[in-house]
Amino acid sequence: MPVDVFSILTPVGADGGLRTHLAPYNWAERPSVTTLCRLPIRPRPPVESFPKRGCVRCAIRAVAAGIEAVRQADGAVVDLCGFVEGRLDMG
Ligand SMILES: [Zn+2]
Repeated sequence: MPVDVFSILTPVGADGGLRTHLAPYNWAERPSVTTLCRLPIRPRPPVESFPKRGCVRCAIRAVAAGIEAVRQADGAVVDLCGFVEGRLDMG
């Protein structure tokens, strides 16, 4: 998978909780967009890593759109398919 694909989505914080969401967000440009699960974005990096406190709705929507991984601010790549499958196994 090309690196560009990872850059489409960014882990972000959102209103109403500590959960980490995903959005097509660029910290430099700050367009007014919502998370993939349609929450308002908080203009600061997420509190927790996506694997730890990630939003399952965001992950499922990203995978459905063909985005199977996302790069965090620390450079680590999160496998969204694996994340979703892990959550489904728990349920
Ligand atoms: Zn979300």
